[in-house]
Amino acid sequence: MKLHTQVLLAMGLGAVIGVGLQVLVPADSYTGVRVVERGGQVVVDGLAGPAQKSKLRIGDVLVAVSTDRTDPAASTPVGDAAAFNQAVQRADNGTVLWLRTGRDTDAAVNVELHPTSLRARIIDPFDFVGDLFLALLKMLIVPLVLTSIIVGVAGLRSGDELRRLSLKTFAYYTASSLVAIVVGQLLVNLISPGDGATLGLPPLQADEVAPDASFIGVIKRMIPTNIFSSLGDNGAMLQIIFFALLFGFFITKTKAPHGPRMADFFESALEVMMNLAQWVLTLIPYGVFCLLVKVVGTTGVGIFLPLALFMLTVVLALVVHAAIALPAALFVFTKTSPLAWAKAMGPALLTAFSTSSSSMTLPVTLETVQERGGVSKKVSSFTLPLGATINMDGTALYECIGVIFLAQYYASAGAFDFSFDKQVLVVGMALLASVGAAGIPSAGLVMMLTILSALKLPLEGAALLLAVDRPLDMLRTTVNVWSDSCAAAVIAHSEGETLTPAG
Ligand code: ASP
Repeated sequence: MKLHTQVLLAMGLGAVIGVGLQVLVPADSYTGVRVVERGGQVVVDGLAGPAQKSKLRIGDVLVAVSTDRTDPAASTPVGDAAAFNQAVQRADNGTVLWLRTGRDTDAAVNVELHPTSLRARIIDPFDFVGDLFLALLKMLIVPLVLTSIIVGVAGLRSGDELRRLSLKTFAYYTASSLVAIVVGQLLVNLISPGDGATLGLPPLQADEVAPDASFIGVIKRMIPTNIFSSLGDNGAMLQIIFFALLFGFFITKTKAPHGPRMADFFESALEVMMNLAQWVLTLIPYGVFCLLVKVVGTTGVGIFLPLALFMLTVVLALVVHAAIALPAALFVFTKTSPLAWAKAMGPALLTAFSTSSSSMTLPVTLETVQERGGVSKKVSSFTLPLGATINMDGTALYECIGVIFLAQYYASAGAFDFSFDKQVLVVGMALLASVGAAGIPSAGLVMMLTILSALKLPLEGAALLLAVDRPLDMLRTTVNVWSDSCAAAVIAHSEGETLTPAG
């Protein structure tokens, strides 16, 4: 069976089992907050499980409890310990409870399944396998980003003609990815799929202060004082990318044999990493299955509404970019009919859709752009392989929407300050992430982990998105390849070539 079908089946099966667990196996709600009555007040006496990550302290007095932070009228006063425990039992698993304390601060705690309840124990092994899968994905991040960015930049050759072609291609790729990201950003802010969503993600750690996202702060953090310690930290992505960009650039500046030798070395390292990643990704059906059983089994089907809204946002942005922005660029720069060009590119687009991989599609893209589009070998064999690794418009907008979706979720719970600075940081990181994403299935999701860790948002969010990643991956890969083919046309035309789209 094709991997695609397996993943889609795993999604369905996992959801069905999750719903079965919800319906058939009852379970207690649990926040880990133990309270006692002391002097007519309800006082926190013990903190376990989810509560350990909250801002609550032993000895805090509980005044009121609410499921909606923004609406103080919705809060229930906590008169005695029984009232508090009832409020917890009434709350759905996966929601966040807001506790007003005597200290004049609100503390958020997650409502979870009681860890000793039968349902929680059934879900445990699924949770374990899901975590293993997530750990394997995290393992890929640093080596994939490092090698893929170095190889991408080192591919920009020097030498007069190639330098001109390189600069043009690079500028065009950057511009088209930026446009894609902005389309995504506008739509996700407009639709706000994450606002007030019930996702059942862990609350932010009280001591995890989001990093300084101001321009100066980012610049300061970007330069690694020791690249080897940055390589040891999944959260140091900006530093790794910064170093990789410089290193790749200086490979092009270093004379033979050293420059080319290094380029070869990293190209081989990237090949090996891609094979390793592909192996990890064949495990996706199992990962997705376990994640869905866990998520649906604990939180219920309520989770699908925000996820559906998120998917809709991504699809809408992909359509706007692929059907409006890219055709407009194609027409303005080359005067070629976008419809004729799309028809001619059919084989490459269909291969992209069914493989979810720009790299696997590359041979077909080359053939299609040359034979059915009339682009010369010189231009296509330079722009397309480079494009398959660094020009990913669909991925870029997906990164942006995914991260902002999760940030909205945390921000609407008041746990995360999603300032304008951070939006700008997301745009920049999404651009770099799309450059760093390898052209293989789900690579975009792996890269999203890097942005989430840069913003200090929990990586569990990406696990949730993984559950519905495959259909989106098919679509965004198609957009990635469509953008590569349009770029080849624009660059070829600017080099004086005549396009001959033949459908
Ligand atoms: N699958 C995409 C590609 O190969 C990358 C991604 O996951 O976004 O183009």
